[in-house]
Amino acid sequence: MRHQTIKELLSNHKLDETTELNGWVKTFRSNRFIALNDGSTLQNLQCVIDFESLEESLIKKITTGAAIHVKGPLVESQGKGQSVELQVEEITILGEADAETYPIQPKKHSLEFLREKAHLRVRTNTFAAIMRVRSALAFAVHDYFQKEGFYYMNTPIITASDAEGAGETFNVSTLEKKNPPLNEEGEINFKEDFFGKETNLTVSGQLEAETFAMGLGKVYTFGPTFRAENSNTSRHLAEFWMIEPEMAFYDLDDNMDLAEDFIKYTISYVLEHCKEDLNFLDKRMADEEKQKPQIERSDMSLMERLNFVISNEFKRVSYTEAIDILKNSKPNKKKKFKFPVNEWGVDLQSEHERYLVEKHFKCPVILFDYPANIKAFYMRLNEDEKTVRAMDILFPGIGEIVGGSQREERYDVLVEKMKQLGIEEDELWWYLDLRKFGTAVHSGFGLGFERLVLFVTGMGNIRDVIPYPRTPQNASF
Ligand code: ATP
Ligand code: MN
Repeated sequence: MRHQTIKELLSNHKLDETTELNGWVKTFRSNRFIALNDGSTLQNLQCVIDFESLEESLIKKITTGAAIHVKGPLVESQGKGQSVELQVEEITILGEADAETYPIQPKKHSLEFLREKAHLRVRTNTFAAIMRVRSALAFAVHDYFQKEGFYYMNTPIITASDAEGAGETFNVSTLEKKNPPLNEEGEINFKEDFFGKETNLTVSGQLEAETFAMGLGKVYTFGPTFRAENSNTSRHLAEFWMIEPEMAFYDLDDNMDLAEDFIKYTISYVLEHCKEDLNFLDKRMADEEKQKPQIERSDMSLMERLNFVISNEFKRVSYTEAIDILKNSKPNKKKKFKFPVNEWGVDLQSEHERYLVEKHFKCPVILFDYPANIKAFYMRLNEDEKTVRAMDILFPGIGEIVGGSQREERYDVLVEKMKQLGIEEDELWWYLDLRKFGTAVHSGFGLGFERLVLFVTGMGNIRDVIPYPRTPQNASF
């Protein structure tokens, strides 16, 4: 039997037809009105019972959180707030929820409290809305790339390479922890480990995606990514989902065009398909903003922000221009930045990125042509031999949402760079092969899916936009 959902029922119903539904009780008032929700939509269906015909013991079990089955005709509603309601003729309690101990009561719970109850928080309006939007966004990602002629590929989760060279990896090993085999130097002998070498969870699928781009043309990955960075911020997770397109024959400008178009598409998609949830999240954010001191309040509502992003061009600025702006900025002169900007070549901190986006340009910004020595080894060296064809997209309230580049396609230049950085050629022989056989200009980028969800939902902490966050000292559930 195919079960009907409240969403389907509300969008396409016939009055007086007998209907059956399953769901959870949101509230039960006056011993008569059940607000039923089944997760399919933010909207509850009002179910009206005739309590005189029901046993008291059964009525006692109609409590917030209980799973129930109801049957009866759908009728025009007498009360305000809904157009139809279900006149309950039969009700079955499928699963009780003890009112004393069920933690999700019909009142405002703090986000911190709900993180401790992550297995139940999806039953709140806020988390259900976030997770429905997240699902729609994931679909929009595939929809966009499939329409644009990209092929979806899955890159390995266990790898022996550390693409970013940052060393922030989680090791994968089956060696005994207490007495691992040692080599002659007295170090752990990974030759005896499962894969015969040291392996870790992937920090990026880019290098493998490049190999596929050089055969399939345009590809993208969308998979889990792991970083053991100890940054306990509201924008970092130890396990997150990354979308990484990689395109043969694309230069940096093509790459920026694609990234901008892609982001705008996914946001437009949810604006069209998740109106109800976004309106709810818009109100939530507005309430949240009211709690903040005036100067910290954002001057746009969530909906305004989303519409602004899809209808305005992202501002493209070189790193060098950005440094000039920052050097001469008020907060820099007044020594308000924690990391002062004195010279060309410094890495940009999130306070600088946010100043550029939120105070100076007041729109999303694409920074490009970064100094070579603050970026990864694979980025294409510019003619000035000082900068590389890198680009970061910066968003209000989020900071970096995309990091990408045109890749170094010249064998000699890449080998030289790896030498300088002490990256072993025999570790990446296959990556170098791409530059030996049919090499071509190519580009790609990585977008952190949770940062996109964070932006679209107007939430403040990345822990609240993934079902079960993995962060330092926390891997519950
Ligand atoms: P950041 O400076 O914010 O740590 P990054 O420079 O390390 O980012 P990249 O290596 O360029 O980021 O990764 C590509 C994208 O993946 C980023 O733009 C961001 O959207 C996302 N991302 C990176 N690290 C994390 C993380 N720990 N948690 C969630 N998303 C992340
Ligand atoms: Mn990082």
